[in-house]
Amino acid sequence: MFGEAIALHHFDWQRHDSMYVFLLPCMYFLFNVILHFKGKRFVTLRTTSLIIYIIHPMMIVVIRLFSRLFHLQSLLVENSIVHYFMVCLTSVVFGVVLTAMWNKYKPKKAKHTTDTDRAYLEIDLNNLEHNVKVLKGAMPQKCKLMAVVKAEAYGHGIYEIVTHLGKIGVKVFAVATIDEGIKLRQYGVSGEILILGYTAPARAKELRKYDFTQTLIDYEYSLLLNKQGYDVMTHIKVDTGMHRLGFDAKDIENIFAVFSMKHIKVSGIYTHLCAADSVDEKDIFFTNVQIESFYNLLNQLKEKGITIPKIHIQSSYGLLNYPELKCDYVRAGVSLYGVLSSPNDRTKLQLDLRPVLSLKSRVILLREIKKGDSVGYSRSFVANRDSLIAVLPVGYADGYPRWPSQRAERGKGFQETRLTSSHEFTSE
Ligand SMILES: *Cc1c(COP(=O)(O)O)cnc(C)c1O
Repeated sequence: MFGEAIALHHFDWQRHDSMYVFLLPCMYFLFNVILHFKGKRFVTLRTTSLIIYIIHPMMIVVIRLFSRLFHLQSLLVENSIVHYFMVCLTSVVFGVVLTAMWNKYKPKKAKHTTDTDRAYLEIDLNNLEHNVKVLKGAMPQKCKLMAVVKAEAYGHGIYEIVTHLGKIGVKVFAVATIDEGIKLRQYGVSGEILILGYTAPARAKELRKYDFTQTLIDYEYSLLLNKQGYDVMTHIKVDTGMHRLGFDAKDIENIFAVFSMKHIKVSGIYTHLCAADSVDEKDIFFTNVQIESFYNLLNQLKEKGITIPKIHIQSSYGLLNYPELKCDYVRAGVSLYGVLSSPNDRTKLQLDLRPVLSLKSRVILLREIKKGDSVGYSRSFVANRDSLIAVLPVGYADGYPRWPSQRAERGKGFQETRLTSSHEFTSE
């Protein structure tokens, strides 16, 4: 810009020192610099800057007029620095005043409201925050929380969950698919995102573009991914007994071979425990064999001169029943949302986890029926006394399944079933 100014003056090309050539790249650069500072949004500033942009040429005219009227030209116009600051000052002052007026008198937009006529989910972000604290407290010191937010954050709504987790300092996320990962990036997640599931090798370019960490599910897959020619960050998944995804824990040669693949960057290694939820002796034995074979593998790799930065084993139940394991991450899913897979599960650690989700509905109709009358399809409920019946406007379309029929009485039925205790009714 400086060069442009010098050139303009030297060749006397134009009347004003407006630098049209370098203005655009300069602004582009400065705007990108500003974007690096992540902070709160001030929506009002947006309006103010727009107003300043529109009115500043008028302020030039106003200052010139004012100077002429009061004979201040030599000070306010001819001294270009003073002139510049006067235009800035008056533009900002008018910008702020006009913004305040605009905010006061602008047409009111309809507020976003949630349809709560029938049934709705209530997401308690305070409980989410509480669970994060409790889980972190239960983890070994240098271990970090990897928030598992696959499947719309277990149905809680991925946007709300992820933005709140980001606000309270969670930086590492896990999703099942690359498309879930892309969503997170679009929502502004800048931390590490591990894709737990399979991504077609043909999408390697996107893995690179969005800076994802991809799970290597076996040797063939690693070869194919490497062949695409894009450097991809990866975690090796080791199968220690679940027998779904992962290299066989004994397949040391192939695991070793991955480290010499040109485009595969390994930043972590993990396994998944498939019976960690059980306190049955046989399952505990099985799980310990899993853990042992995983650490064995790590030792063998170490002997070959390989240490891998990030190691992780536990998901929710892994932490709750095997809290002593030393790892870099705990991949917490269900526990983050404050529930267990089965509400009656007993676990070694008893953490005060609080349900994040409640399904709520309201009573829209009360009616009396006589003893012997039935309610609903197949006459499935028959009153054994004169009864008062409450009708709630909730059904399949609202995500409420058929099987709790007649079991969901006053919360009691829920405790006895696999539907977690997080489901309650305001009407109770
Ligand atoms: C889903 C998943 C988790 C999270 O499990 P939770 O039991 O919900 O904590 C952890 N690791 C892997 C590999 C998963 O697929």
